[in-house]
Amino acid sequence: MTSSGSAEDFPAFLPPTPTGVARAAELLRAGEVVALPTETVYGLAAHALDERAVRSLFAIKGRPLIDPLIVHGLDVNFFVNLAHFTPMARLLAETCWPGPLTMIVRKTSAVPLLVTAGRDTVALRAPAHPLMRAVLEACRLPLAAPSANPFGYLSPTRAEHVRTSFGGCVPWILDGGACALGLESTIIDVSDTSAPPRILRPGPITAEALAQILDCRVEIGPRESTPATGGLAAPGMLARHYSPRTPLELLESTQKPGSPPVGRRAAWVRLQRPKPKEATPNAVEVFWLSEDGNLAEAARGLYDLLRRLDMAGYAKIWCECAPESGLGLALNDRLRRAAGRGNS
Ligand code: AMP
Ligand code: MG
Repeated sequence: MTSSGSAEDFPAFLPPTPTGVARAAELLRAGEVVALPTETVYGLAAHALDERAVRSLFAIKGRPLIDPLIVHGLDVNFFVNLAHFTPMARLLAETCWPGPLTMIVRKTSAVPLLVTAGRDTVALRAPAHPLMRAVLEACRLPLAAPSANPFGYLSPTRAEHVRTSFGGCVPWILDGGACALGLESTIIDVSDTSAPPRILRPGPITAEALAQILDCRVEIGPRESTPATGGLAAPGMLARHYSPRTPLELLESTQKPGSPPVGRRAAWVRLQRPKPKEATPNAVEVFWLSEDGNLAEAARGLYDLLRRLDMAGYAKIWCECAPESGLGLALNDRLRRAAGRGNS
C-alpha cells in the first residue's frame, strides 16, 4: 500500500467521480492493484507490463501462474505494440469493441510471459464501462485484470462482493455499482489463421452473433491442450470454477429437486417466476432470476444470487439450466462449472 492509513481504513471505496478515477490511475501507475468495475464483472487490475504488479495480482487471487490474464485497453491502437492484429481480429475489434469480447491474438515480446502463462498469444479486451475507460484514459497503461474473486470462486458483480471476498487484501475498489452484464466476456481465439476461429468461453457476445460478423464457421470449446499448457486446460476452462462452496446441482427445466437432508433447507433457483400452482418439495425455497425468463436479466443477477445463497447456509442449491443457445450457452457454461462438471 502506498498511502498511509491503518488496516481498518481498508478496503477504501474510491467514488465513481473524476477524483476517484484519478486516484485509481495514480495507484495503478505506482504498481498497485486496484479493483475496477467493467460491464461484465469487477476486475482486479494491475499494470500489465510491470511484472512485480502482475505477481501481486496472482498472489492476491491465489491464481496459479499457468492461468493467463486478459489485458485491457481502449482500442486496437492502444494495443499496437503488444499484439499482431489479423484482418479477422480487426473486424472483431471494429464490430465488438468496446464491449464484452476478449480476443486471443499473437503477442509481441513487449508482453511479459508471466501475463500469458508462457504462451505466444495474448488475450485482449477493450471494455465498455465508462469508469474503466476513464481509468484507462487517465493511466494510459495496458491493464491485466482477472475477475476480482479468489481463484475458483464466483465472480464479483458488485463492489461489495470484492470487499467481502478480500477484505483489506484488496485495498482500493473503484465503486461502479452493479455490473450491467454480470457474466465474464466471451473469449474467441483468432490467433491461428490456419484454423477456424474458436470460442474458448461463451459469453455475452453469442456464438451466433460472432459467426454472422465473421461470416464463417465458429467452433466452440477448448482447444486440445498443447505442450505450452503442460497438458492442462487453462483454468478458466476448468471443470470446476466460478463455484459457490455450497454443493450445486443442475436441473433441466422439467426436473424437480429432491428433498434436503432432514433438518436442513435447500434452494431452488429458477430462471423465471414459477406459476402459483407449481409444487415445491418440502424444505426447498424457490428463487428466480427473472420474472419472465429474460436471460440477460438472469445473467445480470446470477452471481449475486448464488453468493447470497452460499452465505445463507443451505445444504444444497439446485439450479435450472437455460436453453442451449444464445446467452443460454454462457449461462449453462457457468452453471456447469459452478456444479463442478464444466467440460461434461
Ligand atoms: P478471467 O479469469 O476472466 O480473466 O479469464 C481469463 C481466461 O482467459 C483464462 O483463464 C484463460 O482461460 C483465457 N486466456 C487468457 N489468455 C489466453 C491465451 N493466451 N490463450 C488461451 N486462453 C487464454
Ligand atoms: Mg476469473
